[in-house]
Amino acid sequence: MRALVYHGPKNVTIDEVPDARIERPTDALVRITTTNICGSDLHMYEGRTDVETGKVLGHENMGEVVAVGEGVVRVQVGDVVVLPFNIACGFCKNCEAGRTGFCLTVNPGSAGGAYGYADMGPYSGGQAELLRVPFADFNALVLPEDAHEKEKDYTMLSDILPTGYHGTQLADVGIGDSVVIYGAGPVGLMAAMSANLRGAAEVYVIDRQPDRLKLVERVGATPIDDSEGDAVQQVLDLTQGQGADKGVEAVGYQAHDHEGHEQPGMTINSLIQAVRPTGRIGVVGVFVPEDPNASSDLAKQGEFPMDFGTFFFKGQAIATGQANVKQYNRQLRNLIHRDKLNPGIIVSHELSLDEAPEAYRRFDDREDGWTKVLLHP
Ligand code: NAD
Ligand code: ZN
Repeated sequence: MRALVYHGPKNVTIDEVPDARIERPTDALVRITTTNICGSDLHMYEGRTDVETGKVLGHENMGEVVAVGEGVVRVQVGDVVVLPFNIACGFCKNCEAGRTGFCLTVNPGSAGGAYGYADMGPYSGGQAELLRVPFADFNALVLPEDAHEKEKDYTMLSDILPTGYHGTQLADVGIGDSVVIYGAGPVGLMAAMSANLRGAAEVYVIDRQPDRLKLVERVGATPIDDSEGDAVQQVLDLTQGQGADKGVEAVGYQAHDHEGHEQPGMTINSLIQAVRPTGRIGVVGVFVPEDPNASSDLAKQGEFPMDFGTFFFKGQAIATGQANVKQYNRQLRNLIHRDKLNPGIIVSHELSLDEAPEAYRRFDDREDGWTKVLLHP
């Protein structure tokens, strides 16, 4: 089959690789119809991780089931399914508690499993023609008959919509709240949509990319352009000097200042300033552990100075982590089905697999208008 293969920093190509296949009785095999490029793929693309060369990338996958193992009883050949980026067993301590992003079975000794990702188990990605889906009965979400018609919307269920929602859940966004979100990338935009869904009264999203700030308005939130002045001050001005009730971080360790210098943690410290005393902060932007063996400085960004004094003095709370996609994807699917949610509006490009290497380059350069790329193998 053809697949997008990682060969080293900023070097991905479409190669012929061995077909994905059923390896265990609980697997399903999915023919991929849509697979997306994610901001998280760029961590590997830019060489910030120790992902092995030869790895097939792609964790935002949707397609049609073409085969199932003999132990699969729910999912059937012909079903159109969307796959959470998390691979989870369904029966470990964390899965039983709904924390499928931290499955203890699929990636022993580490934190959860995922398709086509560094440090998240030996699983191949779905930027390919075929994908092996472990524990298919637990992981695959079957879509209704409008699956292909609304493919652009449903494909967001694999990661960024539930991840944005998770940010608002971690921050405990509730009815009437004011919410400040750092980052108007795909994840921040989905967090803004989710905050509205949960009844927030005011939703502010901070970024400096004009195309993305426009999308903030399209999802029904208020853009804050931090290149026009201190973002924290702008939030304080908009909230009678008190700060927003809740905050969501959707940038991650690759946060940068206006000169383009990377400043891991600057968004966390800004949120501590911009959220009111006793407010909650949900962090879904990715931060990675320090890796003492990392060959490049880019991989050593897990530690940063945190303004813990202000955080403590304001009695705030913070919650973090990968999204447990399965906790929300069914409910969000139902809202898409009933036309109550349309996350597909942020899609900027729909391309073939052959166009993926070029798309990686342009998405990584944050070229104007490259917000969310869907690939159709
Ligand atoms: P992205 O890189 O497309 O978007 C990040 C946005 O942040 C960009 O628009 C950029 O202009 C903006 N930004 C950078 N520095 C900033 C600053 N100092 N202040 C304000 N805005 C700033 O990425 P994305 O796809 O939206 O993902 C965002 C983060 O979420 C990444 O770290 C990604 O890895 C992570 N993520 C986490 C999960 C999860 O399960 N927790 C899932 C998917 C993605
Ligand atoms: Zn993703």
